[in-house]
Amino acid sequence: MLMLAIEQNTDISKLTTLRVKASAEFFAAPVNLEELVALFKEIKQKNWSWNILGAGSNTLLSSRPLKGIMISTNKLDFVTKLGETQYEVGAGLRMPKFCALMTRDSLAGTEFMEGIPGSVGGGIVMNAGAHGAEISDILVSVKLLNLASLELEERTKNDLDFAYRSSNINSQTHLLVSAVFDLKADDKDAIRARVQTNNKARTTRQPIKSFTCGCTFKNPQAGYGAGQLIDDLGIKGHRVGDFVISNLHGNFFENHGEGTSSEFCELMKFVQAKAQSEKGMSLKPEVKPMGDFSKEELEIWS
Ligand SMILES: Cc1cc2nc3c(=O)[nH]c(=O)nc-3n(C[C@H](O)[C@H](O)[C@H](O)COP(=O)(O)OP(=O)(O)OC[C@H]3O[C@@H](n4cnc5c(N)ncnc54)[C@H](O)[C@@H]3O)c2cc1C
Repeated sequence: MLMLAIEQNTDISKLTTLRVKASAEFFAAPVNLEELVALFKEIKQKNWSWNILGAGSNTLLSSRPLKGIMISTNKLDFVTKLGETQYEVGAGLRMPKFCALMTRDSLAGTEFMEGIPGSVGGGIVMNAGAHGAEISDILVSVKLLNLASLELEERTKNDLDFAYRSSNINSQTHLLVSAVFDLKADDKDAIRARVQTNNKARTTRQPIKSFTCGCTFKNPQAGYGAGQLIDDLGIKGHRVGDFVISNLHGNFFENHGEGTSSEFCELMKFVQAKAQSEKGMSLKPEVKPMGDFSKEELEIWS
């Protein structure tokens, strides 16, 4: 029997860092694998559709009501030491918290995670990275729940086809439950210094106190960032509804009030059209859409 509470008609606006207005027909946050499997048995019985959310820091939720169930991995945040340098962590553990724990234990490799407000699960799906490092660099393996068979499958790093901000994990067929990482023993003060440097770089260059999804677009080419391109287009500060292109970093779009997904899409389309007409460059989104988007809006991702 399912003991996990399933909420109905839930406001999920605060579950993403962009804070777009959004609601879900059903919502649940399982705390362990047992609850997760029981939840999916119920989902299948009721024939609900589902979406999986980590920390919601790379997701554009639709402002139209989300049908079916939103599953949050927030409570799957265990940390288990497997050996001197190896840890298994739950998908919901926040990357900055993982970095703080590894720094405490004098283990290097997670310094780049400082200031990336995502979960480990979302970080692996997106192959999150910064300052020349990526999460795939320190990953050994993952456990995925196959959402058809409800069996746990283990995949090694090489099975996941990691590339720039992508992996082959499909959130409609598999839920990443946990991951094993191998770190490197190092001097604690040296690790701390690198974390601080990364932190400083971020606070001076990014609007970290605003509601954003981080970089909206992927970099169009190596050595030419989307932020630089948007700066060169002279469109920082451009506004659609409550969304404004940040004056600090052009690839960050800030929600200055009650921004909706339609406004965000309109702003993305404006930037893509400018990049194409003035620089001949095609900008591909880094942010992922979730929920009900029109055919025209989805063309932004095609
Ligand atoms: C201020 C700010 C700064 C940022 N800086 C960086 C940066 O420097 N580098 C960088 O790479 N990114 C950055 N980001 C973007 C974001 O933090 C990363 O992409 C992060 O990895 C997303 O993790 P998440 O848990 O928030 O994913 P979510 O947004 O919750 O989900 C992203 C996708 O992964 C899927 N997913 C999430 N968890 C699971 C799971 N357990 N199993 C299966 N599918 C899952 C979701 O369904 C969705 O499709 C930044 C964002 C912000 C707001």
